[in-house]
Amino acid sequence: MFQNPIASLPSISSAKEAVLQKELQLYTVADLIQYYPFRHEDRSQIHKITDLKDDQQQAHLIGSLHSLQIVGIKNKKRLEAMLQDDTGVIRLVWFHQINFLSTSLKPGMTYAVYGRLNVFNNSYTIVHPEMEPYTTYSNLSKTLIPVYHTTESLKKHHLDSRGFRKIQRSLLTQLPAKIPESLPDYLLDRYQLLNRRTTLLQIHFPESVEMLQKAQFRLKFEELFYIQLKLLQTRMLRMEKQLGNVYTNTTLVNQFYEAGLPFALTDAQKRVAKEIYADLKSGKQMNRLLQGDVGSGKTIVAFLAMLLVVGSHSQAAMMAPTEILAEQHYNKLLELSANLPVACELLTGSTPASARKRILAALAAGEIHILIGTHSLLNDEVVFKDLGLTIIDEQHRFGVMQRAKLTQKMTQPLSPHVLIMSATPIPRTLAMTLYGDLDVSTIDQMPAHRKSIKTVHYYDAQRLKVFGFMQKQIEAGAQVYVVYPLIDESETMTYKNLMDGYESISRAFPDIPLSIIHGKMRPADKEYEMQRFVKGETKIMIATTVIEVGINVPNANVIVIENANYFGLSQLHQLRGRVGRGTSQGYCILMTDYQLGEKSKERLKALITTTDGFEIADMDLRLRGPGDLMGIQQSGALNLKVADLQKDNAILVTAREAAKEVVQADPLLESPHHVILKTHIFSQNASLDCGNVG
Ligand code: ADP
Ligand code: MG
Repeated sequence: MFQNPIASLPSISSAKEAVLQKELQLYTVADLIQYYPFRHEDRSQIHKITDLKDDQQQAHLIGSLHSLQIVGIKNKKRLEAMLQDDTGVIRLVWFHQINFLSTSLKPGMTYAVYGRLNVFNNSYTIVHPEMEPYTTYSNLSKTLIPVYHTTESLKKHHLDSRGFRKIQRSLLTQLPAKIPESLPDYLLDRYQLLNRRTTLLQIHFPESVEMLQKAQFRLKFEELFYIQLKLLQTRMLRMEKQLGNVYTNTTLVNQFYEAGLPFALTDAQKRVAKEIYADLKSGKQMNRLLQGDVGSGKTIVAFLAMLLVVGSHSQAAMMAPTEILAEQHYNKLLELSANLPVACELLTGSTPASARKRILAALAAGEIHILIGTHSLLNDEVVFKDLGLTIIDEQHRFGVMQRAKLTQKMTQPLSPHVLIMSATPIPRTLAMTLYGDLDVSTIDQMPAHRKSIKTVHYYDAQRLKVFGFMQKQIEAGAQVYVVYPLIDESETMTYKNLMDGYESISRAFPDIPLSIIHGKMRPADKEYEMQRFVKGETKIMIATTVIEVGINVPNANVIVIENANYFGLSQLHQLRGRVGRGTSQGYCILMTDYQLGEKSKERLKALITTTDGFEIADMDLRLRGPGDLMGIQQSGALNLKVADLQKDNAILVTAREAAKEVVQADPLLESPHHVILKTHIFSQNASLDCGNVG
């Protein structure tokens, strides 16, 4: 039954079939039955017309219909009628389906009417009410009525909520007494889940709020469980299969410690370094995500990992998303390894051919221990003698989908350990879904001396004040960033804003050397400007978001962010992390014009009151939804049908625990009571896929 096309149902004409396919991609009976309502309305109460109140949203009335007539002309036509109960009358109006309704509605008959109450010309009106003849109304459940998403095209084919209700009702009455489960019995028992049949019945036409919640819980659990099962199984199988080199030689590490660290590591850094060392010694390939807020000190942790590998006579690679960042890492690692027998090299797109040749030869001979670069490291001609560890920095810049490709490519010849570093704090729920196949280490502590950055919000009209502040800071020896967002995806618009800004800053600071960086410049020119700023030759850097990730100029302690409301919160937080990296107080100035919505104000306020990147990421997730978080747009993992990563955190944790137990006990899902899991894990739509149960 479930695999049959929807047109096999008597209630689905071929026209309906076509529109359901086109609008909702519903093809089979299974698809249709899994087209769940998005909410339910409680219609246990029937109102009296005289009792209706202005602040009332919905009206539920029973009365007789009269004065049905088409009014207006041509395309301004509408259908009107009056409904009368024993207390008064109310007007009903329709703008669509006028011809159909004018013949199907019967004046004189009693109807149950439900719809949103409007006040029109000082009297109540219901526009497009749902009309149920009283004769059939008495058969319906009136406590929790399902409401389905619908569209104008669907409505033209009478597929409004009421239409869907009819179809689902008749479909569900035909549901066989026993339908195959999609979760093993022992999981149903353990997590007290409704069986599948009851779930289907209750999600559409619940008996009670309690049953509705149970049905929702089962569906969400199942959806999240299958995602986690897939991720954890992938990880488990990879770990079993992918042996990794064992690195235990701590000679270099000790040497580094004995020479004296530039600072004391935070407890979080120590803990995370230990986690990584355990991986490198384990004999299994490491696949670890290292999360840490901007400035939390990921670089030295990465360096410690490299030292263990290099000390064991293997090589390490570090890949950054831009040349500037790669070069910065290179300089940092040169500094850290200054007194150690460790050879570092930098390879980017702009490395001259002769140097490139020399580096590639030395790399293949094993004379270079650490190679830092951009994605040019992925080039086929880059051949290591013995690559033991790959570190990918600021991973979100590469895009989530690229991650797989990247690590795959890097692992092909030698299966090095992989450490992915991200400065975008990801809420736990998202991390579980996006990186569920990785181990996650989190540096959740800032170096002690770090002053928190002062964040303020100014309107454009207060610009002179801001300029005055910049002037003072520059006179005191500081440098300043001024950043422009990418507006409406339009390069031209951004460019214009940037140039206008540059002009007004040039006028305001005639004697101060400026740098400007934007996307239309050649990489070499960008590099040149960046270097001038890094060296302190220029005092103000005017830029688009190229400076967003990882740039470290300790002397820059003011960042002015123009049109701040165009940025996501996490992105603003990233930008803010560019300042306050030295010893002096950092400032972040958020500029906007006066026309700020409440939501924008709330977002900016959040940023002003907290400096905790994880809290901010959570807020971003709550205010804008997961799709807007940086770099995760492409992820298919977020196409959830019933669960909501923002709200269903607890269910996710439970589902992940359940999936973990299954995978640990039976990684290949071979035991008889896991046959169900094996069948469903391979189907595209794991959640209640009726596909193979027909
Ligand atoms: P991120 O995590 O953003 O990559 P970095 O590794 O670039 O952070 O570190 C930011 C700055 O803090 C660097 O200048 C680094 O030398 C410094 N730093 C890192 N760890 C510590 C620490 N434990 N104590 C003091 N300063 C530290
Ligand atoms: Mg960094």
